[in-house]
Order: sequence, then structure tokens, then C-alpha cells
Amino acid sequence: MNMSRMRDTRERLVVIGGDAAGMSAASQARRLRGPEELEIVAFERGRFTSYSACGIPYWVGGEVSGPDQLIARTPEEHRARDIDLRMRTEVMEIDVDRQRVRARDLESGAESWTSYDKLVIATGARPIRPDLPGVDAPGVHGVQTLDDGQALIDTLAHTRGRKAVVVGAGYIGVEMAEALINHGYEVTVVNRGSEPMSTLDPDMGRMVHEAMEGLGITMVDDAAVTKVLTGEDGRVRAVATEHAEYPADVVVLGIGVRPETALAKAAGLPLGAHGGLLTDLAMRVRGHENIWAGGDCVEVLDLVSGQERHIALGTHANKHGQVIGTGVGGGYATFPGVVGTAVSKVCDLEIARTGLREKDARRVGLQFVSVTIESTSRAGYYPGASPMTVKMLAERRTGRLLGVQIVGREGAGKRVDIAAVALTAGMTVEQMTALDLGYAPPFSPVWDPVLVAARKAAAKVRAS
Ligand SMILES: Cc1cc2nc3c(=O)[nH]c(=O)nc-3n(C[C@H](O)[C@H](O)[C@H](O)COP(=O)(O)OP(=O)(O)OC[C@H]3O[C@@H](n4cnc5c(N)ncnc54)[C@H](O)[C@@H]3O)c2cc1C
Repeated sequence: MNMSRMRDTRERLVVIGGDAAGMSAASQARRLRGPEELEIVAFERGRFTSYSACGIPYWVGGEVSGPDQLIARTPEEHRARDIDLRMRTEVMEIDVDRQRVRARDLESGAESWTSYDKLVIATGARPIRPDLPGVDAPGVHGVQTLDDGQALIDTLAHTRGRKAVVVGAGYIGVEMAEALINHGYEVTVVNRGSEPMSTLDPDMGRMVHEAMEGLGITMVDDAAVTKVLTGEDGRVRAVATEHAEYPADVVVLGIGVRPETALAKAAGLPLGAHGGLLTDLAMRVRGHENIWAGGDCVEVLDLVSGQERHIALGTHANKHGQVIGTGVGGGYATFPGVVGTAVSKVCDLEIARTGLREKDARRVGLQFVSVTIESTSRAGYYPGASPMTVKMLAERRTGRLLGVQIVGREGAGKRVDIAAVALTAGMTVEQMTALDLGYAPPFSPVWDPVLVAARKAAAKVRAS
């Protein structure tokens, strides 16, 4: 085939960001449209593509090996599928009017413009790094990228002391606490909120707090870090809050992320209240026919509250990429929104949530009933049955399920998926009580804990 002629006629897709959303989009577009029709150029400023940041806590903790095992597809594998992948190349500017991007080769410093017919923005999220004295000292680590994971592993290998402070008690903070325990560290978690896991209601967060203390972790709530203290060698030696100092040979920051949308903002693309790009249901940037965006850099529709939110999760990013690639490839797909499901664990404690917390429901003007039940993971008489707490929110009068939070041991976390399906289907708690769930003593009591909560919630709705 005559390549120069081919280049004249085919469309060019440019992708910014080479991880979950970006490369899922590129791969799906390639599945639907061959290289003779669609040229795909993808820019990634880092050293890896299609990697699982989700696996970093388990890699650092020694439960899985890495970093190769955390890479779903290498740059070479993408190139073998006719994707022109430009690694260590950062897009510096999007020129929407002239349909082109300006990129810089981070090794040589050379810059060039690349025009596009279609553009996908998948720039992810940026970890929040507080502007505190000492925060850049050796021994202080973020855990956003595989390079971050490797740097932390190297530090752990060379650190003689065994005290660690984790700043932040969201899911990354609690997962990293476990990783450090696996390395034999005495772990302190310093948390700005009143309880860990602010994605839960405080009463459920309290259970996580108590369980983490039971695991030997020192929990410091309602405490903002004011500085990182260093020793004579310049390395971290402690973390200070307004009231106390916590000795630390290593510090891990897990304070959360913000959408990485500086490029999009400079290009005049629409951003929402949380700083994420706004898209339609086909993941097209609103008002821009030939630009798509997905993953951690966008806001998503919360199907329960009807409001836009920023939720940085790989499970969404992969789905966004699939939808975008289908649209770019000439097919039809939509991403309807999320119900806010997430699951994580610290040691053997499983923590799960979906839907609205009490304060979310109040914020959008929903009146609700709330129940909390204690049950077990298996039939009470079956070996290994462990306690589980389920909290359920349902709308007053209608009984529509609004949210579920679960804290317990083995088998607790993924039970939240029952509630996620019920939420997506718009079920009432009354309807949930009749769900035909599987039962045998090794798997659940005859009334599954989620159904016990639904029964109690349904009774409360009837009385409301
Ligand atoms: C420690 C950790 C644990 C996690 N655990 C889970 C979990 O258990 N479950 C879950 O669902 N999610 C989890 N996540 C979140 C998940 O990893 C992210 O939601 C997911 O990676 C988002 O994918 P993305 O493609 O949108 O963005 P990213 O993965 O952030 O990828 C964006 C890419 O774009 C590149 N980029 C940005 N700007 C430019 C530019 N201007 N030019 C070129 N390249 C650029 C970046 O280098 C990056 O590689 C975890 C995240 C972390 C950090």
C-alpha cells in the first residue's frame, strides 16, 4: 500500500495520557478502525503505559510482585497494534481552533505541533501535595505512579528505623498502612477528618478507626499536619501537627487527588465545580464534537443524587475509555453515570460503600431512614463466621434505596455489589428483601446481611 497516499486520506486521533482511560480508548478505536482508516498518536509523559496504580499498595506490601506484573500493556505492545506511542512526551498546549497539540519531548526538550481530527483527553488526576515545610525531604513519598512505588520500596529497603506515618486516611492511606505493617513498621495514620474513610458516615468510620487500632495502628484524627521535620542528614524524622510530633523514618502521603485539567482549562474547555472536564453521556466534551475526555480528569453523573461528582477510580476510567474508543471508532456507546461504589481493605478488615452518605442525601434535599445491623459472613454455626456491620439508607415514603456501607472481615466487601445493582436498578428496600440471592452456610446466613438490613429499612420506611 502507498503510505503517503494513505496518510492523506485517513483521520488522525490524538490521545493525551497513556494509562487506563487513554489507552483503553486508543485500543478500542483501533479494534473498530484499522490503520488504513485511522492513525492513532498517543502522548505519555511518564515511562509506563496501561499500568495499574491500584496494585501499588499490594506491590509495596509484598503481596504481588512488580512493576512488570502491574503493566497490562507495554508501549511496544501498543505499537505492535499500530498505535504511534510517544513516551516521555508531554502535551503542553491544546489549540482547539486549529485542531492541534503542542508536545515536548522530555528527553531532548524538542517541541512540535501535531494536528488532530479527533482528540481524547485522558490526563488523569494529580495527587494533592500539601505545601508544607519539609514535604520534599527524602523519606517522604507519594504513591501515584509506578516510579513512586519503586522509590518507596527502595526507601523501605534502606531504612533502619521502623516507624512510619501515613498522612491521610482515605482508601489509599489505609491500604498503605497495611503495606507498611507488612514491612514490620509501627504505623501512625494522621487524618484531618473526624474519622478515617470519609467516604463513609462517621459512625461507620468509627468502626474502621477501632478496627485499625485493633490491628496495632495508631490513629490520630482531627489533626492537620503542619510540617515535616528533618534530621541532621536532611531525611524525615517526624511529622508535626498543631498538637504533637510523630516520629517517622518514612512518610507516605495519601491525601487525595484533583483532576489534572490545567491543559483543558487553558484551552477553554468546560470544567465543572470540582475542576473536572464536563462531558455528555458519550464522553464527548460538552460543546466540542471532536473532543472526548475520560478517566480521573472528568466529572461523572451521580445517578443517585443527580449531581456531578469527581470520583477518581480505575473502574470508571476503563469504562470511559471503552465508550470513547467506540465513539471514535464510529460506533455508539454511552456511560450513564455511577452510583459511587468502592471497596478497599486494611489487613483483614474490608470496607465498602455505594450510593449516598447521610450528608449527601441531606445536601440534595432527600429525606431518608437509616438502619444499621450486625450480622455474620457465614451461617453462625459454620467455621470462620465473622461479624459484619451493614448500614443502609432508604428514601422516606418511597423506600428507594439510597446507599449502603459495609464494614467487616472476609466476604464483607464485595457484598456491596448487591446494593450497587439494586441502586442502579432504582429498587426499593422492600423489593430488595425478596432478592433471590445464593445461600449455603459457608457463604452467608440464610438471610444475607444485606437482606437483613433491607428488611429493617423497609419496616422503618413503612413507619416513616
Ligand atoms: C495507590 C492507588 C491505588 C488505587 N486503587 C484503586 C482501586 O483499588 N480501585 C480503583 O478503581 N481505582 C484505584 N485507583 C485509582 C486508579 O488508579 C485511577 O482512577 C486510574 O488510574 C485513572 O486512570 P486515568 O487513565 O484516568 O488516569 P491516570 O492513571 O492518572 O493516567 C493519566 C496519564 O496521563 C499522563 N499525562 C497527564 N498529563 C499529560 C500530558 N500533558 N501529556 C502527556 N501525558 C500526560 C500521566 O503521566 C498518566 O500516565 C488507585 C490509585 C492509586 C494511586
